[in-house]
Parts: sequence; C-alpha cells; structure tokens
Amino acid sequence: MRSLSIFGATGSIGEQTVDLLTRAGGADAYRVVALTGGRNVARLAEMARALRAEVAVCADDAGLPELRERLAGSGVEAAAGTAAIVEAAERPADWVMSSIVGAAGLAPGFRALRHGSTLALANKESLVTAGPLLMAEAARHDARILPVDSEHSAIFQALVGEDIAAVERIILTASGGALRDWPLERLATATVAEALAHPNWSMGQRITIDSASMFNKALEVIETREFFGVDPDRIEVIIHPESLIHSMVGYRDGAVMAHMGAPDMRHSIGYALNWPERSHLPVARLDLAQIGQMTFRAPDLARYPALRLAREVMARRGLAGAAFNAAKEVALDHFLAGAIGFMDMAGVVEDTLTALDPGLGHENDAMTLEDVQAVDHLARTRAGEIARKQAGER
Ligand code: NAD
Ligand code: MG
Repeated sequence: MRSLSIFGATGSIGEQTVDLLTRAGGADAYRVVALTGGRNVARLAEMARALRAEVAVCADDAGLPELRERLAGSGVEAAAGTAAIVEAAERPADWVMSSIVGAAGLAPGFRALRHGSTLALANKESLVTAGPLLMAEAARHDARILPVDSEHSAIFQALVGEDIAAVERIILTASGGALRDWPLERLATATVAEALAHPNWSMGQRITIDSASMFNKALEVIETREFFGVDPDRIEVIIHPESLIHSMVGYRDGAVMAHMGAPDMRHSIGYALNWPERSHLPVARLDLAQIGQMTFRAPDLARYPALRLAREVMARRGLAGAAFNAAKEVALDHFLAGAIGFMDMAGVVEDTLTALDPGLGHENDAMTLEDVQAVDHLARTRAGEIARKQAGER
C-alpha cells in the first residue's frame, strides 16, 4: 500500500487532494502518515479520522488541546507547532503533497525529500525562494519533484518524451485575474473583495489576490526557470482569459504543444498522484464546439509591475527569490488588512529588493536553507517598515 502525507491538508489544494484520495478508496487504498493544517482544527481532525492518519499536526500551538480532544480514541496522534510540522515530514512516506501556502511550506517539503519521496509540489514559493537548493536535495536523495501548479503540470506533460534541449520557449498562460478588464487608473482603488472575484479558478485567498496582481504569474515564471532549468528569456507570459490552455511548450522546429483541460486543480493534483500512469479523474471534459473560441493578449507591463520584477529577480538569482517572495507576502498582508492599496504592493516589493541589494547576489552553491531563512526574515522586516511608511502616507 502506498504511503502518503499532506502538508496543508485543510487548504484549497489540500482539500482537493483529500477529495481525490477519498474517491480512490481513502484509508483502504492508501496508508496516510501525516496530515497538517493551520487554524481549522475541526476540519483537520475530521479528515485525520476519516483517512486514519498516523499523526495530525496543526500549525498553531494554541490549537493542540482542541485537536487532542477531537482525536480522542481515534488512534491518531496529535501535535502542534512549526517544529512538529517539520518532524511530521521526517516520517517516511512514498508521496508527499506540499500545499502549505507561503514560505512556511519550504522546510517540510525540503525535509521530505530526504526519504527519496515523490514530492508533489503545489508550494511554488519553495522553488522561488530556494530552487537550486531544493533541486539539489532531490537529486542527492534520488527523490522526485512533480509540479502541481497547473501551468507547470501542463509544461511537464507537454515535455513527456521530448528532449529539453529542443525547447525554444515556454509560454505560461495567465487568466489575468479578477481585475483584468479594469482601466489602469482604477486599479489603485481595488478592494480585497474585488480582487478576490476570480473569474475561472477557485483557490485560496492569497493566491487569488496574487492572481489579480500577477504576482502569482511572477512567482510562476521564476518557478519555471528553477524547475525546468530554462533560460529566463525563453519564458513568455500570455493572457488567456478562458483558462483552458494551461501552458505551452514551443520546440525548435516551430511546433507548439499546448495542454488543455477544464480549470480544475484536481487534474494536476491527480496527475501527480497517479504519475507515471493516468487514471480516471472527476474533472469536467472540454466541449470545444460549445466553447467556440479562445482568446489571447499580451500582458501590459504597466498594469503588472510584478512581471518586470520577476525578470530582475531571475537576473540576480541567489537569494533574490527569497527576498522577493517574503516582501510579496508582507505587501499582501498589508493589502489584505486594508493598510495599503492594490498597486502599492509592487512598490513595497521593489523598494525592499532595492534596500537589500547588493547583499542578495550570492553564488547559488553557497546557499543553504539557513541563508534562505535569514534573507526571508530580513526582507520581511524591511518590507514591513516600507509598507507601514506607505500606509502612513495614504
Ligand atoms: P490555502 O490558503 O487554501 O491553504 C493553505 C494551507 O496551508 C492550509 O492548510 C493552511 O492551514 C496551511 N497554512 C497556512 N499558513 C501556514 C503556516 N504558517 N504553517 C503551516 N501551515 C500553514 O492555500 P492554497 O490555495 O491551497 O495554496 C497552497 C499552495 O498551493 C500555495 O503555495 C499556492 O501558491 C499553491 N497553488 C494553489 C493553487 C490553488 O488552486 N489553490 C493552484 C496552484 C498553486
Ligand atoms: Mg498556477
């Protein structure tokens, strides 16, 4: 029986993973090792009981008494705290879903690679902050990383049987998010609720806002660079409002392989779960005659400064990705709290990168997990100061 763990089981990706496992037979089909969650202790306990997990861990220490109580008599161990989450990743499992949101997802995924596990990576922040480190750790332990982000799963699938050397370009599609049709001058006034109204995908709150600002696409361009090892100038972004083509790979003979499907994350999660086989998945089938048409347009860089910043981060490499991601998370926190405007987020990130430069230009092979965590911490402090200053000026 295959063993597996899910880090971030109570989130959007985690719930969809649990849905697929449950449909595939749940605890009768898989040995579930660890499930982790954040504050939703009730849901975590419920899924841990249903899947007969060995251990359930909530991120917040304060949640432990409730978790223990809810798991009493079930045989599921209860634990809490960041260290306990990393400890849970030390328990061997054949397949590990990394679906915690943000930089907090890096350490458990990194640790899971030591067992030579297959790491299904939804947490794109891991590759943005520590790509070279993560890929080297996977190689060292003969572990495998499978992308779960829909674009990267699409690219991965369009590369099957092909030689990466024959790739001329990778074209990432972007929905453009909730505000894509707003006039540029109105964007500064966008509220959290408006930025959350994503037209196609149902996702966690943070990634939905990042989708509207295209910080999500910026992270994904860097993720592409790190995961597939392609040169940044071979990575393009195109807005495709229908979200039916999940990304494309262009080859040197001019052929373009596009991956299509309904916008449903259970496809990429299921692909990573069943890989290298394909099994039936409960996703809607495309009816192209009914869809009729698909449209595309180039992203306007004035609307999406995040895309320009991603290019700068890729030019610097080293620890710039860790600083970029941390500053982005802090800027997003301030936007969510109503302290800064939608268009101020990019300013906070850019000013943080400028403030921390040139300390970011480390050689990649000198990078350790501790270096990444130190820069993450430093960037959060600086970004917080910059965001508070911005908020004061509003
Ligand atoms: P979410 O907010 O719905 O869920 C996040 C999970 O992480 C929850 O279980 C939450 O409790 C847990 N968590 C949050 N902060 C934590 C912390 N500090 N320590 C430990 N656990 C913590 O997020 P999501 O939308 O499921 O996204 C998860 C990851 O997958 C992100 O990296 C996101 O970029 C990526 N991703 C998501 C989608 C999507 O459709 N939702 C698509 C592609 C990639
Ligand atoms: Mg994506």
